[in-house]
Amino acid sequence: MSLKVVVLGGGPGGYVAAIRAAQLGAQVTLVEKERIGGTCLHWGCIPTKVLKATAELLDALRGKEEMGIELEGTPKVNPVWLMARKRKVVEIQETGILKILSRLRVCHIQGVGRILGPGLLGVETPSGESERLEWDRLILATGSRPLCLPSVPFDGERILSSSDVLELEEIPSRTLIVGGGVIGCELACILKSLGSQVHVVEALERLLPLPALDPDSSTLMEREMRKRGIQVYLRQVVQRVQDQGGGLEVILGPSPALEPLPGRLQASKAILVDRVVVCVGREPVSRGLGLESLGVEVHGRGWIRVNQMLETSASGVSAVGDALGPSRPMLAHLASAEGMVAAENALGANKGFNYEAVPSAIFTSPEVACVGLSELQAASLGLETGSEKFLMRGVGKAQILGEIAGQAKVVWEKGTQRILGVQLIGPMVSELVGECTLAVRMGMRLEDLAQSIHPHPTLSEILVELSHKAMGMPVHGIAGP
Ligand code: FAD
Repeated sequence: MSLKVVVLGGGPGGYVAAIRAAQLGAQVTLVEKERIGGTCLHWGCIPTKVLKATAELLDALRGKEEMGIELEGTPKVNPVWLMARKRKVVEIQETGILKILSRLRVCHIQGVGRILGPGLLGVETPSGESERLEWDRLILATGSRPLCLPSVPFDGERILSSSDVLELEEIPSRTLIVGGGVIGCELACILKSLGSQVHVVEALERLLPLPALDPDSSTLMEREMRKRGIQVYLRQVVQRVQDQGGGLEVILGPSPALEPLPGRLQASKAILVDRVVVCVGREPVSRGLGLESLGVEVHGRGWIRVNQMLETSASGVSAVGDALGPSRPMLAHLASAEGMVAAENALGANKGFNYEAVPSAIFTSPEVACVGLSELQAASLGLETGSEKFLMRGVGKAQILGEIAGQAKVVWEKGTQRILGVQLIGPMVSELVGECTLAVRMGMRLEDLAQSIHPHPTLSEILVELSHKAMGMPVHGIAGP
């Protein structure tokens, strides 16, 4: 008899776990309360990148003369058409996933799942019926939802979550984004290109304050966003938002999380906008799942605790994806990778999950991508490192595209010359970080990258130029900033 595996949550963590478990011969049921694809497909990766594709096209058309194009009139977005395209792209993806699940005979049940006890999961379907599913192994993949700021609660109309923004059928003239993290900065760049005046408020001292990004990368991005006309307010928080009839008045004040900078005025500031988008983080979807009935341990806001094998504290129950929380990057490809390992372990493998080479891509303009250790992270581990940068403007393809902002930075271990991490800023660097992931994962040295011939003229040449420069023999080297 094959093992019964039930997967709770049909996002990229859950549906990929279901696929892998079915491929390994299990009898699999996937329970999803909304739509297959989860946050990634419906409120995250895919819809934001559909919007970004249009935003980039508009930017390119704005620079049309430089690119040798004659075009009458000013190109502008039609948000209704854009939302229709977004729905179409999402539907195509969703249909594809459903077909794969059906081909693998994964039983897909739409409904809200809740653990009833060892080996038993209850499901309430939208029509109000209840089902009871037996399981030998349970994989929890219930994801996360936008965190609400008590001083600025979502109303879905003028104070929006990142999910609400993806339904807008009108581009706000003036938008204030609370939170200069990944989602806040991505939405800021998109909304700016689509025609909104954008303000970004960040409580910490830098944008994109991720451990895997060194402060110089944040500074470069801040400069690029300001150049695009985005107003950035660092070390500030939103104190309150008041309705002014013609708009929302947002009052900013100094961040209580930071010591005031000497000699800087700590005055409040008022900004008038039409929409406020709150992107201050995510919270787990773990309450109400019945975790306590099995003794599944959680921590912090309710993030599910797992060991290296992705097993929870309850026997036969593992967990993957965003529900594990921000101690690892909250990204779709990581959720899927964890989903595969959790499924394999559920069916008898004994794999530990390795978080050393997880790439992050931030779809701002220009894009940011990184993998492995930043310089600061390497130093905090006591590693003796070297680092080097190569500017994007030194790459022929960047000049061809007319997108020269950015740089690549490599961090390596002195002595072995092993590549520990890479940080990239520039056009389409989300496509380049895959190669860097391989380099970090395989423990490649600078020389390995330098000796790998890359096609010309491509953006990927920046990695070869960077490694030659890091080895002290720059070919087209332009000194870093
Ligand atoms: P989710 O995708 O959240 O899926 C969880 C699923 O579980 C949901 O469908 C939910 O309905 C279901 N569920 C929860 N509770 C129950 C229950 N009791 N019963 C049944 N079903 C239940 N990541 C990237 O890698 N690249 C990007 O470009 C990117 N862009 C993003 C942009 C935005 C605006 C946001 C918000 C996120 C973005 N992410 C991106 C992050 C990515 O979406 C998440 O990391 C990913 O979706 C996590 O996958 P998951 O399977 O863990 O959870």
